[in-house]
Amino acid sequence: MARRFDIKKLRNIGIVAHIDAGKTTTTERVLFYAGRIHKLGNIDEGNTQMDWMEQERERGITITSAATTLTWMDHTINIIDTPGHVDFTVEVERSLRVLDGAVIVLDASCGVEPQSETVWRQADKYNVPRFLYINKMDKVGANFQAALHSVVEKLGAKPVALQLNWGFENSFVGVVDLITMKGLLWQDDTKGKAYETVDIPAELVEPAKKAREAMLEAIAEFDDGVMHKYLEGQPITAEEIYMCVRKGTLCAKIVPALCGSSHRNRGVQPLIDAVVRYLPSPLDMPPIKALQGDAREPYAVIASDDSTFVGLAFKIAVDPFVGKLTFVRVYSGVVKAGSYVYNATRGVKERVARLLLLHADKREDIEEAYTGDIIGVVGFKDTKTGDTLCPEGHEIFLEAPTFPEPVISLAIEPKTKMDQERMGMALNRLCDEDPTLKVSVDGETSQTIIRGMGELHLEIIVDRMRREFNVQTNTGRPQVAYKEGIRKIAEARGKYIKQTGGHGQYGDVRIRLEPIETGKGYEFVTEIVGGSVPREFWPAVNKGIQEAKENGVIAGYPVVDFRAVLYDGSYHDVDSSEMSFKIAASMAFKEAVVMAGGYIMEPVMDIEVVTPEEFMGEVIGDLNSRRGQVHEMTLRGNARAIRATAPMAELFGYTTALRSMSQGRATSTMEFERYDEVPKQVAETIIARFKGQRT
Ligand code: GDP
Repeated sequence: MARRFDIKKLRNIGIVAHIDAGKTTTTERVLFYAGRIHKLGNIDEGNTQMDWMEQERERGITITSAATTLTWMDHTINIIDTPGHVDFTVEVERSLRVLDGAVIVLDASCGVEPQSETVWRQADKYNVPRFLYINKMDKVGANFQAALHSVVEKLGAKPVALQLNWGFENSFVGVVDLITMKGLLWQDDTKGKAYETVDIPAELVEPAKKAREAMLEAIAEFDDGVMHKYLEGQPITAEEIYMCVRKGTLCAKIVPALCGSSHRNRGVQPLIDAVVRYLPSPLDMPPIKALQGDAREPYAVIASDDSTFVGLAFKIAVDPFVGKLTFVRVYSGVVKAGSYVYNATRGVKERVARLLLLHADKREDIEEAYTGDIIGVVGFKDTKTGDTLCPEGHEIFLEAPTFPEPVISLAIEPKTKMDQERMGMALNRLCDEDPTLKVSVDGETSQTIIRGMGELHLEIIVDRMRREFNVQTNTGRPQVAYKEGIRKIAEARGKYIKQTGGHGQYGDVRIRLEPIETGKGYEFVTEIVGGSVPREFWPAVNKGIQEAKENGVIAGYPVVDFRAVLYDGSYHDVDSSEMSFKIAASMAFKEAVVMAGGYIMEPVMDIEVVTPEEFMGEVIGDLNSRRGQVHEMTLRGNARAIRATAPMAELFGYTTALRSMSQGRATSTMEFERYDEVPKQVAETIIARFKGQRT
């Protein structure tokens, strides 16, 4: 079987935006103009094609990334939907890993917003070429040039306008294409499907000439021939300009910029043209660095159907029609429906029962998927997000995306016995889908604890359990995910000896704890000489410490970033057992943590608040009362942007509080920044609460 189309004509892209910038509206217009949907929904009524989860409809935010395929100018475009809310940064990060290019949507009246900045940095991290679409040109305060200026200021990028806006706010009717030097005018009554190409209106002729000159100056350097023509003052063709803009975009030296109003159906078609013209095909991207075989030797994944199959599972979803659906990006080679592949990450064989092309909530079965394709696989059992797929006997490992740490936790309890049975299953499925969701059982209280990225994140998980899995739960109040750390090296001995007739217990260990680099977690090593603790008991010692560290010592929170060294001990020929060494190890560990100056750490968030000037005093005062530190205050349009850090513990319900203190006009975003030691007074309260729980 042959490819369905030439790989050079494939674009895997994401439309990325700050929440409310118009990503959903824009995506939907793109699908409509490409003939993939036949009716325009209205996001405000909650019936768009991309938001197919009931909950997303209600909230009006796109939580999960759906993938959609469409055709434009003889090219195939796969759009990976990326979420805009900061609690779902992980989804953005995950989708950027599988994209070749991105369209960054900005609100023309706001320019670069905090979330756009975050996404921009992530796109930099994964070298994703991109262009800008300045949306909402019809909105009061819309300003194309000011938005581009904010890109220079805040992102340090070099935007190159390929258009001029034709009118603005209510008078925005179209754009001037600086490449063809024509006006593009949209007629309302066709839902924007048809637009006219006309002469540039008189008042824009001069500005257009100037803007074209600036564009040529910025892009000529990407091709010697064009540079020559430019310097000689010779005419440059549209094709030559497309080529230069493409080159400049692929090497990330420039960021082309377009404008439009998706809501008013103006300016969307040139955006799709630009996807085809300027964003890369899988062949334009450098080979991906991976590792091969048991020795983990470097391996370059080449984008070619003739190479070994390599795929990345980048999302797992529970699909209403086909059940568990694994989204896979094929980086190299071909994969067939009905075949087996090998999951190198987990070391298991998986069957590709069906291969699906995806279109929001419709699916099309295909026989084979080729290099560059983004497909849904039905039939995988053990595969999780971030796993590499390859042929058996040819193990290849792609670098999995990195995910931020959970900062808050919530105790959940099934309402009835029936709910209890279903809850475990539901949480398993949700964890498969979402690597930032962690589930554990509290050692002391036996409660199920879920941990995640923010209040909204956990709220949505609980909600999804109810809707999708029919599990009713009672939840506690969200709690901060504290951690415990140690300050210095310390040693302790744990002895667990019981001799009550018959078979006794005998475990005796000496361990040393050493702080290690933040984020390194836990290491276990042995320095036993002369067999004072026989080798067979070392794993039990390790296990004893591992279990004890999860339940904490100072205040019941996981102890992190330390090395445990088992260096001495003693044993008894008859009475020693794994159990007795496990208990001895946990005793030694608890004592050593206290001796090592165990302390409590809390997650600290990076916050940005954008507020009208009149509320600034109050917002800052409030941040101070939340143990916040203001780092920066800048002017944003006519508003003020405040950048601060504050502990998660003080930020519960912050969005609501901010809304009421600013008559609903200030907005905020926050993101995990680091773990910091909690101040003494706070530590005392936490410890007192912990002790109270135990008595
Ligand atoms: P998302 O959160 O980025 O997906 O944004 P949505 O597409 O849901 O849009 C957010 C809000 O902005 C909705 O109320 C839209 O109707 C509105 N919106 C989207 N595009 C435009 C536009 O071009 N002009 C104006 N004035 N509003 C728009």
